[in-house]
Amino acid sequence: ILEDEEGGVVFFAPSLSSASSSSSRFGYASIGSQRQRLPVYKYRTAILYLVETHATTIIVGETGSGKTTQIPQYLKEAGWADGGRVIACTQPRRLAVQSVASRVAEEMDVKLGEEVGYTIRFEDVTNPAATMIKFLTDGVLLREIMDDPLLTKYSVIMVDEAHERSISTDILLGLLKKIQRRRPELRLIISSATIEAKSMSDFFQTSKKHRGPEDHEFVPRKVPAVLSVEGRGFNVQIHYVVEPVSDYVRATVSTVLSIHDQEPAGDILVFLTGQDDIDAAIQLLAEEAHASRKISSGLIVLPLYSSLPRAEQDLVFSPTPRGKRKVVISTNIAETSLTLEGVVYVVDSGFSKQQFYNPISDIENLVVAPISKASARQRAGRAGRVRPGKCYRLYTEEYFVNEMSSVGIPEMQRSKLVSCVIQLKALGIDNILGFDWPASPPPEAMIRALEVLYSLGVLDDDAKLTSPVGFQAAEIPLDPMISKMILSSNQLGCSEEIITIAAILSIQSIWVSGKGVQKELDEAKLRFAAAEGDHVTFLNVYKGFLQSGKSSQWCHKNYMNYQAMKKVIEIREQLRRTALRLGIVLRSCEGDILAVRKAVTAGFFANASRLEAFSHNGMYKTIRGSQEVYIHPSSVLFRVNPKWVIYHSLVSTDRQYMRNVMTIDPSWLTEAAPHFFQNLRRPDPIAH
Ligand code: ADP
Ligand code: MG
Repeated sequence: ILEDEEGGVVFFAPSLSSASSSSSRFGYASIGSQRQRLPVYKYRTAILYLVETHATTIIVGETGSGKTTQIPQYLKEAGWADGGRVIACTQPRRLAVQSVASRVAEEMDVKLGEEVGYTIRFEDVTNPAATMIKFLTDGVLLREIMDDPLLTKYSVIMVDEAHERSISTDILLGLLKKIQRRRPELRLIISSATIEAKSMSDFFQTSKKHRGPEDHEFVPRKVPAVLSVEGRGFNVQIHYVVEPVSDYVRATVSTVLSIHDQEPAGDILVFLTGQDDIDAAIQLLAEEAHASRKISSGLIVLPLYSSLPRAEQDLVFSPTPRGKRKVVISTNIAETSLTLEGVVYVVDSGFSKQQFYNPISDIENLVVAPISKASARQRAGRAGRVRPGKCYRLYTEEYFVNEMSSVGIPEMQRSKLVSCVIQLKALGIDNILGFDWPASPPPEAMIRALEVLYSLGVLDDDAKLTSPVGFQAAEIPLDPMISKMILSSNQLGCSEEIITIAAILSIQSIWVSGKGVQKELDEAKLRFAAAEGDHVTFLNVYKGFLQSGKSSQWCHKNYMNYQAMKKVIEIREQLRRTALRLGIVLRSCEGDILAVRKAVTAGFFANASRLEAFSHNGMYKTIRGSQEVYIHPSSVLFRVNPKWVIYHSLVSTDRQYMRNVMTIDPSWLTEAAPHFFQNLRRPDPIAH
């Protein structure tokens, strides 16, 4: 028996384990017994006991053992959601949040958004009066700390997939450790798929500072409990290639085909890196299917990546029809966050897309990079869920043993930290370098971030948030550069336009993917193209979409992604509300594009680049770091090559490409951020 903050009493009865099958009384025996067959079920009593008696419980268990879907339900059954309190479970990935929330709602036989709900950025499917179990991204929970620093409505917070070590997870762990000191009744569960429990446990045990008077007389034990859930994984046979492969997409396809040809029934899960190579592999498989009846009648090939529309996600989870073999071609997302039933064969390319940041050049890139041994083992493990399986690694054994690093680098140590710093500042964490991190970020990256925020006018000379700009920017759930652009649009009288641009920039692409229709797509873009570049083009597109009555046929005709445009409308509406709350006057500049461009520059001056004087191949150099960059072929300014541009982001393939590019007048740069362009290595590049 414990007392909670309001002096109420929480009852906990460890022997109640049979309560979990209460749903069977309502005729859902099949789901109830399914739940009892999961490996975590045997640990139900132990988990509830540990959570009651320890401030922090670390639970390690392999993917599919039931951590995410079951533990929140056990907690609810044991009364942790009574009295209006809420059980939170965080995930690093949006898609996983939606998927597990709907699974749990189904298991509990309730409507999603009532007792069980979820929140991701720009989408809140909860009912504050009813929601007891809430799934959310760790980023969303961080934002909630801004409004409610002690997260008082939560009784238990389960930080799931902690092994992924996303930036938000790391910040969250640091903050939760602080919150726990003020709220001894708060319980944390850190769950993960790989054994890394020791370092987590050390982190929660040791205090960086001496315990101050704010420390309570503590009822639960501070030393974290560690529980390892024995899985029931079957043996997985590992096959390596003999020679290194040069094209992993082709190698994937031929491996899938030979499994299909030679191996008994069982689904195949393929790990590639992103939507582009997944689409390429699907295309190749479709060509093979065209030529062979055995393939076309036997294989169901499905993609899986985060931006996949809901209906296509559901296909991946639906049971494979008899006599067929499902091939799911996925990004890293199927490595641990999602469970697919029926997988017997895994094909592992050995790569994933990872963010890397170079604080010297100030360039952040999503690049295809080798995975770690820990990831490779996770991927292989996916093959042994239903019966003994096989994993085909498209790299040599020698490479696995000698070259692969044992664990991945936490995202915190390979990312730009601008958003991270502004969030911590908004939470009142002033000494960021001294913050109690699970893994310290590189000081150079920190300094870079502070410098950019200072130039944006978000931080002052003492590295405190400025008023009002800094506080307002922190309120907007977007990159601070976008936030600054929105705030500047207020003075420039073009907030309506800038909010549209911000909404479009926050989704991947509004165009349909160009495979096979490149020419038509380019022609469609030309219909909207503005000489000033992509940002202004977006305004034309949005106007056209509204004039069409938000018609899906119109989108189809113009090679635009209708789902994406609907999302833009939704995000825009959210941003409008945020803007109003911040006191921004919603106003249209009525075609005064100069104002729009100046507002974009006010946010993105740090991404300025200039065409090299004698460049015949469209080479630009960034003003800040003198890096070689090129305009991305998807931009309306591709091959136009204006002298001065700013870009929204970089993608690197064979080269660094600037995506979403706009022309500027260089004098706007010094106007927008005098400090930023002062101490450059190149002497005053703006003068010539
Ligand atoms: P963990 O978090 O330990 O990886 P989960 O709780 O996500 O495990 O999954 C436990 C089990 O629940 C899976 O093995 C699977 O049988 C089932 N399950 C989870 N999500 C779904 C879903 N969306 N559809 C059908 N079954 C699911
Ligand atoms: Mg899980």
